[in-house]
Amino acid sequence: MERQQDSVLRQVEEANVDYIRLWFTDVVGTLKSVVISPTDLETAFDEGLGIDGSTIEGLTRTYESDMLLAPDPSTFRILPEYDSTGTTGVMMSDVLTPDGEPAASDPRGVLKRALERAERMGLEFFTHPEIEFYLFEKPWRRGEPLQPIDDGGYFDYVQRPTANNYRRELISQLESMNIHVEYSHHEGGPGQNEVDLRYADALATADNILTMRAMTKKVAHSMGQVATFMPKPIVDQPGSGMHTHLSLFQNGKNVFHEPGAEYGLSKTARHFIAGLLRHAPEYSVITNQFVNSYKRLWGKQEAPSFICWGHNNRSALVRVPYHKPTKGTSSRVEFRGLDSAANPYLAFAVLLGAGIAGIEGEYDLPEGAEDTVWDLTDRERRAMGIEPLPSDLYRALDSFEDSELMAEILGEEVFEFIIRNKHDEWAKYRNQVTDSELASTFNAV
Ligand code: GLU
Ligand code: MG
Ligand code: MG
Repeated sequence: MERQQDSVLRQVEEANVDYIRLWFTDVVGTLKSVVISPTDLETAFDEGLGIDGSTIEGLTRTYESDMLLAPDPSTFRILPEYDSTGTTGVMMSDVLTPDGEPAASDPRGVLKRALERAERMGLEFFTHPEIEFYLFEKPWRRGEPLQPIDDGGYFDYVQRPTANNYRRELISQLESMNIHVEYSHHEGGPGQNEVDLRYADALATADNILTMRAMTKKVAHSMGQVATFMPKPIVDQPGSGMHTHLSLFQNGKNVFHEPGAEYGLSKTARHFIAGLLRHAPEYSVITNQFVNSYKRLWGKQEAPSFICWGHNNRSALVRVPYHKPTKGTSSRVEFRGLDSAANPYLAFAVLLGAGIAGIEGEYDLPEGAEDTVWDLTDRERRAMGIEPLPSDLYRALDSFEDSELMAEILGEEVFEFIIRNKHDEWAKYRNQVTDSELASTFNAV
């Protein structure tokens, strides 16, 4: 059988590829790219491509800045009309140390290790993300108002064709790269859209999310617009979440499904959800990584603020969607906390790790919430044992820092980097004097 590397080399030749981009991310999830010529591809496969990682957020300590990029041939794609200078191929790449070992700080490596741990239990992890984002007329500039490209709302068919054309173009480009879009529609906010990627194993999904984000921005740019995945760009409008449907398979069988059980949920699924709930305060720094993420979580507008689960309950952190009892393979849980600005590799690693901790520890699943938990009083919620999610990045960081589970899943290097990086972000934020303070205090005292 043809080796995957040889198949890529052949495709590069057949399609007359001019450039190859090797993509990877820093710890925050920012896409990084190195371009090589097709003539250097074989060597890059055999030996890796040497890069200086010293200026990349969290990737290296300064005394070990030399790194290797190892392109993953299974991710090879040709970018549709990426730039006018020639045909461009792209591959997701792993980051290695100079001795060829996986770098502790590579987010893709963190997810791969988490998936390997699950594999040792015979489990495969699948995800299906619903990615929300906003389209604006222009990039943000200090002091200028934000201008969404339309004033449509949830599922609106916008008469001004911009959003529809935009989504059609984006989807056709993603489909041409074999990234399947299951669903797309206008979302609740003006200029807000959602694109759902078909479920796939978690590594492929995380790779696809990064490609989708890059293409979303590129298509917007080509239409003279700007796309942002910022969790809460507009104060009184919905934030951009990345609800993700999670499922576990063993020997090709969905282990979340049990015919006849309540909501078709197996014991394994119940323990998994219990793990997601119990460890939610600890992993919030990863699923909701920015100061701004907490403005979405606490800004109402359909984002979850409380740690609970429910059947078809959209105010819950974990929702068990309705599915036809006969469709056992589609049993899944929808995690609604995640936002569109998360690093998907790290986010999937911590969600899987929290769920597996629930399975291994046989955590009991608390009673599901049937009501809209936003409408209950604090007392009612407390009586039901429903705790709030962290209210801001600082509180999230407090729970993260004390979490042995997070240190174990992420590895010491990533764990320590995130603590330093997020304390810096919080300190910068805390030191601001905001318009809101000036408005409430300046003339009043
Ligand atoms: N935009 C909402 C959020 O921040 C979700 C809306 C929906 O239910 O799709 O999570
Ligand atoms: Mg949505
Ligand atoms: Mg959803």
